[in-house]
Amino acid sequence: MSSYEFTREEFSRVFDGLRARCSLYGPKRFPGRGRFTNTDLVKYAQLNGLEELELEEKSYMSPKSLAFPADETLFYFTGQEFAEAPQDGEGEIVVFLRPCDINGFRRLDAMFLENGGTRDPYYQRRRERLRFFMIECTESFDNCFCVSMKSNTADDYSAALRFSGDSVLVEVKDDEFEGVFSAGRPSGFKPEFVRENRKRVDVPDVDEMPPEMFAHPMWDEYDQRCIACGRCNTSCVTCTCFSTRDLFYSDSRLSGERRRVWDGCHLDGFTEMAGGASYREKKGERMRFKTFHKIYDFRKRFGYDMCVGCGRCDDVCPEYISFAECINRVSAALKEVEGR
Ligand code: SF4
Ligand code: SF4
Repeated sequence: MSSYEFTREEFSRVFDGLRARCSLYGPKRFPGRGRFTNTDLVKYAQLNGLEELELEEKSYMSPKSLAFPADETLFYFTGQEFAEAPQDGEGEIVVFLRPCDINGFRRLDAMFLENGGTRDPYYQRRRERLRFFMIECTESFDNCFCVSMKSNTADDYSAALRFSGDSVLVEVKDDEFEGVFSAGRPSGFKPEFVRENRKRVDVPDVDEMPPEMFAHPMWDEYDQRCIACGRCNTSCVTCTCFSTRDLFYSDSRLSGERRRVWDGCHLDGFTEMAGGASYREKKGERMRFKTFHKIYDFRKRFGYDMCVGCGRCDDVCPEYISFAECINRVSAALKEVEGR
């Protein structure tokens, strides 16, 4: 492991050299494309120069689409055979991201590569191409609660970067990238991590959720307030639900392609079954399902919480529903139920 220092101009040249050998993705600003008039959209996209890397604002969408796209063709079929869809590109992809999102990928890996003992090959082939360059994060954005979720630190990265004034400091952990940075001046840089968020969350710590919590009246409030838009699901770095759709090329229903498309537990139709039956019809039931999955069920299986506290669900909800406050309400209700 070694560390280097560059001026911005020097680092910009390093960035261009890196871009010549692999694709670079990071948070990027799209002027005028935000959800309100005259606002910008920040989302993950391919970077064509260092100046495109957005460091001042949290991205509206997470980087999960690099391994789990919103819409992808899995395979093509005819009546007799099928063929796996080719990847849209080859080679490494360097992703500039923050510690919470690195931890988000850890959760995606658990769901797609470990859950149930079966690896998802479509996720795996994309995931294997990703290399993480961690952007040091010492001050949180609005709505972040990564410290409460123990996702403020990360060590699964190839390089870590600090952008400070005219200087860029880099710690290189992955030998593969040593040569890329070795022209820099040696430095003792080690990344630091945010230790306190303005928003704090009291995560419930129970082995078994009492049945009263599933029927608790707190969930009823979301019946009216939530409009089932699913923005909280699509912006979330750890939501992994999808639907599969067959697109037929002719009336024969023999040739076509199978796609998987993001789905979400808040959306209408998510729990619809054959015969038109549906469970979790009420929005509050969907909120309860999501909440317990993020801070209870997942932990029972994997030993850590699913939610990483990136706060994007709170950033994007058009109804100003705060998931962070929902977790706090669960903890408060739990104390009441358990008479603590
Ligand atoms: S539930 Fe909200 S805070 Fe937690 S990982 Fe998803 S978007 Fe981030
Ligand atoms: S973003 Fe808000 S309104 Fe939309 S589904 Fe999520 S909680 Fe409901």
